[in-house]
Amino acid sequence: MNIKSLNKLPIGEIRYFDTIGSTNDAALVWATEDAPNLSIVIADEQTAGRGRLDRKWFTPKGSALAFSVILHPAGITHLSRTVGLAALSIADACSQLGLSPQIKWPNDILLNGKKTAGILIEAVWAGDQITAIVIGMGINIFKESVPPAEELKFPATSIENELGSPVEREQFLKDVLSNLLKRLPEIETAAFLASWESQLAYKQQFVQVITGANQTPGGILLGLESDGGLRLRDENGKQFTVHYGDVSLRPMA
Ligand code: ADP
Repeated sequence: MNIKSLNKLPIGEIRYFDTIGSTNDAALVWATEDAPNLSIVIADEQTAGRGRLDRKWFTPKGSALAFSVILHPAGITHLSRTVGLAALSIADACSQLGLSPQIKWPNDILLNGKKTAGILIEAVWAGDQITAIVIGMGINIFKESVPPAEELKFPATSIENELGSPVEREQFLKDVLSNLLKRLPEIETAAFLASWESQLAYKQQFVQVITGANQTPGGILLGLESDGGLRLRDENGKQFTVHYGDVSLRPMA
């Protein structure tokens, strides 16, 4: 991959790997060392890419984007909004190509109802303090990046598939990072939350909420809490909130 064009962005340092286990793993280590704010680990291929709860994330060579941004949390009150920051950065880049992305709360980007990108947020702790947030993103760019259906619990696609014309991987990466840099100073604002909420998938629809092995009764998806939690209404009209963690949404068939 040619990542020269990223040099012009006001980011930290870049570590690029042709192949790596997981960019988040490398970023988590670097974050405990001397990584400047907004440093980025990028890989052309991941051999042990992770989703939440150690589920696998596929990043075949030469066809996808896999990168992790190290964010120093100083001055950010709403750290739980960083998953929204990542989601909006990817969604914005899709919209800039003329696509209509939706955010499947908390951590996936959908195009035409299919998963095109996933986000994995992890924190570095020192005692009871968070010293860094690692924002991992995996984005299916070319057709070859889409895993075989038998590996998936949810349908997947790529930017190229949905666009129906060629897409430039390096340019898409630059766009996502530029969007992140633009959105970051607004992360505390109501406008940020509104923008995030406006792009949620399944709004006003009944969704199942899967927490770990359990499936809670589910409810109508209403919107976001100020901390980025998801607000729903159950069958009895009672509102409840779920938080980022091991929560997966499924639309009702
Ligand atoms: P979920 O979104 O299902 O709650 P995660 O956010 O942890 O789960 O993402 C991991 C899951 O995403 C994997 O279990 C797999 O089904 C799916 N997956 C893995 N790689 C890809 C990919 N490149 N594109 C789309 N889906 C993928």
